[in-house]
Amino acid sequence: MVILQNALNLRLFLNEKTTLIIMIKKEALLFAVIGYPIAHSLSPKMHNPALRELGINGRYMPMEIKPDNFEKVFSEIDKMPLRGFNVTVPFKERIIPFMQELSPEAKIIGAVNTVSISEKIKGYNTDADGFYRSLQEDLNFSAKGKKIVLLGAGGAARACIYALAEKGAAQISILNRTAAKAEALAAEFSVHFSASRITAHALKKDELETVIKDADLVVNTTSVGLKESDSLLVETALFELNRPAVYDLIYNPAQTKLLESAKKAGCKIANGKNMLLFQGAKALEIWTGKEAPVETMRQALFSE
Ligand code: NAP
Repeated sequence: MVILQNALNLRLFLNEKTTLIIMIKKEALLFAVIGYPIAHSLSPKMHNPALRELGINGRYMPMEIKPDNFEKVFSEIDKMPLRGFNVTVPFKERIIPFMQELSPEAKIIGAVNTVSISEKIKGYNTDADGFYRSLQEDLNFSAKGKKIVLLGAGGAARACIYALAEKGAAQISILNRTAAKAEALAAEFSVHFSASRITAHALKKDELETVIKDADLVVNTTSVGLKESDSLLVETALFELNRPAVYDLIYNPAQTKLLESAKKAGCKIANGKNMLLFQGAKALEIWTGKEAPVETMRQALFSE
């Protein structure tokens, strides 16, 4: 529940135990990133300097909501004193029933990472745009007519498949540990993007070898690589078959075992840090209607 005591003192009741009291100027705009856990989020680091640079009197804050309290908190979404917010793990799908409108890409991807609150409460997905802009900038890659191997079939995979198919990829081979999930995803996206050939495979060495041989790009959307103890998904010898460009959505560590393996094979590589940057820039543009100060956001994001 949100109580606006007066325009200067906002109280956000996140759950029975947690009340967040925010003091902001009467006319200030409030933005947030909502997730659980949220302490690790780098979004405030890039959004607050960007708001300053745009001359917007506003604040961007992390808001942690326990999964058990999510529906209760969001049943009063229209009373929240927010102009907009980002949504991260694990709420990108659970937020959808609270939206009054969805952008076309959010509808197809089935996940919302950006919400704008004005006349309507509208959900967007800027991960797809962030991913594609990063591919262009970091790998000088354009998807049109290309063959892509995509590892994983979770939420992030959906945004990446959307971006690649929407930009005219000729072939997207989805490989996943749980092959049934890859099959469901391939079937679903084939309906929306009939011009792309979207196929499903098990994440196994022989299947990898078949599809990687003529791939232009390999994208890791799995969470494998976050931990030091995680296994290597693609050996250097497989990358050497064709030396595709390799993109890993993971940015911490900056160079996963997968990227190390690809680099050894001589592939061009990039991690997902600029995807984070560009999804944030797009969200800011949706909220403010102004061009995002990308260089300011980049500097803030990449500073220690
Ligand atoms: P998710 O929905 O939980 O999906 C996780 C995926 O990883 C599934 O395909 C899962 O396979 C696979 N996986 C997990 N453990 C595995 C293992 N031991 N071996 C093989 N496959 C395994 O997660 P998500 O939201 O898609 O996020 C995935 C990754 O993308 C995370 O690392 C996240 O940090 C990153 N990400 C980065 C950005 C960015 O801006 N750079 C944005 C979004 C996400 P199963 O289906 O078989 O379980």
